[in-house]
Amino acid sequence: MRRKKDAQRARELSRERMERLFQLAAEAYDVHPDRCDRYVQIARRISTRMRVRMPRHLKALFCRHCGSYLPASETRVRLREGVLTVTCLRCGRQTRRPYRAGKSHDGGRTKMPRSPEYTRPDA
Ligand SMILES: [Zn+2]
Repeated sequence: MRRKKDAQRARELSRERMERLFQLAAEAYDVHPDRCDRYVQIARRISTRMRVRMPRHLKALFCRHCGSYLPASETRVRLREGVLTVTCLRCGRQTRRPYRAGKSHDGGRTKMPRSPEYTRPDA
């Protein structure tokens, strides 16, 4: 019992550390851009070693191909038919993931209105 609890605690700590590393990367970006990629590297290693899934909002902050820390200025984001494509401007490779607007859980197969602001009844 004890061991299970310890493992759980260790994973919680790992998640906190990953959050912290990305926070540091964001802070370091203007002053020491060279450190950012290192923070990403460490966070990814924690994720692998501890078998803790990287939170989604953190996964969006680096390139899974070259491991660069990616602030918005280093990416190009395109939305198309339920697929969000992020191009890393460092290595030029793309990462795709489904996205959904609203509550549909079908991975974006439902056609979304082109301009949601026109369909909002209270607008
Ligand atoms: Zn890249």
